Amino acid sequence: MEYATLVSFYERLDATTKRLEMTEILVELFRQTPPDEIKQIIYLTEGRIAPDYMGIELGLADKLAIRVLVQISGLGDQTVEASWKEKGDLGLVAETTIQEKRQAGLFAEAPLAVRHVFDNLMAIAQAAGEGSQQAKIDRLAELLRAAKPLEAKYIVRTVVGKMRLGVADMTIVDALAAAFATKEQRDAVERAYNVSSDLGDVASVLAARGIDGLADLHLKVGRPILSMLCERVPTLKEVFERLGGRCAFEYKYDGLRMQVHVTPDAVQIFSRRLENITSQFPEIVGAVRSAFTAKDGIIEGEGVPVDPNTGDILPFQVVSHRRGRKFDVDAVAAEFPVTLFLFDCLLKDGEDLTMRTYADRRQTLRTVITAGERVKFAHTVDTDQEPEAEKFFEEAIQLGCEGLVAKALDSVYEAGARGYRWVKIKRDYQAEMVDTVDLVVVGGLAGRGKRAGTWGALLMAAYDKPTDTFKTACKLGTGFTDEMLATFPGKFGPLRLEHRHARVDSAMEADAWFEPRFVLEVLGPEITLSPIHTAARGAVREGSGLAIRFPRFTGRWRDDKRPEDATTVEEILGMFRGQLKAVKG
Ligand code: AMP
Repeated sequence: MEYATLVSFYERLDATTKRLEMTEILVELFRQTPPDEIKQIIYLTEGRIAPDYMGIELGLADKLAIRVLVQISGLGDQTVEASWKEKGDLGLVAETTIQEKRQAGLFAEAPLAVRHVFDNLMAIAQAAGEGSQQAKIDRLAELLRAAKPLEAKYIVRTVVGKMRLGVADMTIVDALAAAFATKEQRDAVERAYNVSSDLGDVASVLAARGIDGLADLHLKVGRPILSMLCERVPTLKEVFERLGGRCAFEYKYDGLRMQVHVTPDAVQIFSRRLENITSQFPEIVGAVRSAFTAKDGIIEGEGVPVDPNTGDILPFQVVSHRRGRKFDVDAVAAEFPVTLFLFDCLLKDGEDLTMRTYADRRQTLRTVITAGERVKFAHTVDTDQEPEAEKFFEEAIQLGCEGLVAKALDSVYEAGARGYRWVKIKRDYQAEMVDTVDLVVVGGLAGRGKRAGTWGALLMAAYDKPTDTFKTACKLGTGFTDEMLATFPGKFGPLRLEHRHARVDSAMEADAWFEPRFVLEVLGPEITLSPIHTAARGAVREGSGLAIRFPRFTGRWRDDKRPEDATTVEEILGMFRGQLKAVKG
């Protein structure tokens, strides 16, 4: 396919904020894409060149892109920088720069192929070591010399990591299902994605072989699978009702979910966001290597820092700075080593266990691991007795856990699903109704007085799974330190959008709209009915939504969560109803 054709679709996607319209445009695009190119086209449309877990990222520095624009246009540094300041989007700068040069007749006219663009972007992302900077510059310059103005706009946006068409994974899933399957088969497409974590693969199989081909997309070691999640319930009584009596209770450790893939040659750790976090946890790599007794496998658990002197579980914050930084990992690992509490086994010796029952998988886990100091089994009790569960719950809280996770013993592993086969019950929720929720930043309200020049408050939203949108639940203005506030413009500036993001549902105006990206932990004593927020609007009362009252930022950025992993509207509704029950006794 010619890149110009793809760009014409991008222009249409860029112009709409309606998710349905986006899906229709994508269906049209996928139908006319040759099957052997659909993989690349899916990645490019999401502003990437490979699935997350591969860790191949674009994100060329803005300064470098500017250097290339200066070089190919012959314009001065200052002119290009000034145009960037004015437009705030390097893609638009590239578009006008190329336009001017083209008018001067300086560029070749041969059409640019998608494949060629993709290969060059891949080479840019993978260039490493000595001379790599020059190699990146040369590749980008070559592309831009061949590009027409609109093509240049999207090439530059992609290469600096700011494509931002607002096309989400689930929009692509919908479009793929509509293009290559029936409405009833949509869930099968989503499941294939949840198991393979690679929309590109799902698309190329679908386009080439149709829905039946998806059966061949298996769980594989080295390729993370989306985690199974849990719904929140307010009382132990409801746990038993939901899970149908006897079930497994486990401590809910407050740490980082780790999916560990083991082969004879390597141990790799993936986060819940499917990022490869192996290098941050050398102590876990070493411990799993010696504890694992099968040939290969995928095991899952929660990593929690433990005080080496007292054996006490520590707050996760003590190791959260390990994320995304370069530092002396070994020294940090020795100071606050992490212990992995395992609860699941998804694959053993090449065999996919996800369709087996939880009881069975947990049993298999015990045969592939010899527990030790750094790798243990999650503390667990099977019971149908409320008093026994209650005692276990108290014990968990006293040891520094968040509460319990209860699991249906006969449940299969539902990748990516948040359902009632696994449920969580947390402390604060039972007692004082003080609980944290994880909300997504979708907008900013300009600061006044001391906060002039930064964002005085953030507009926060919960995730609504059925519509795949973010619905507002509060304005967050407390809990920010001055240092934190000073970092906001830098943090949120790059996410700023011209208009409300297509997947944000808000009845309120904001001074700025952001691409939903950051998830913040928010504490609030109460959930109330609200006429201005859209979360659960109409569910309790006509015309009213639900909002977090007196919200306060706890200081914890949930970088381990994707926006889609934020607290859901359904959970907030559940909390609101539980609250009523608690009040009424
Ligand atoms: P939440 O983040 O509140 O939705 O709770 C779900 C998270 O709890 C999972 O993603 C895990 O990281 C964590 N967790 C802690 N202990 C367990 C456990 N025993 N079983 C499953 N998940 C657990």
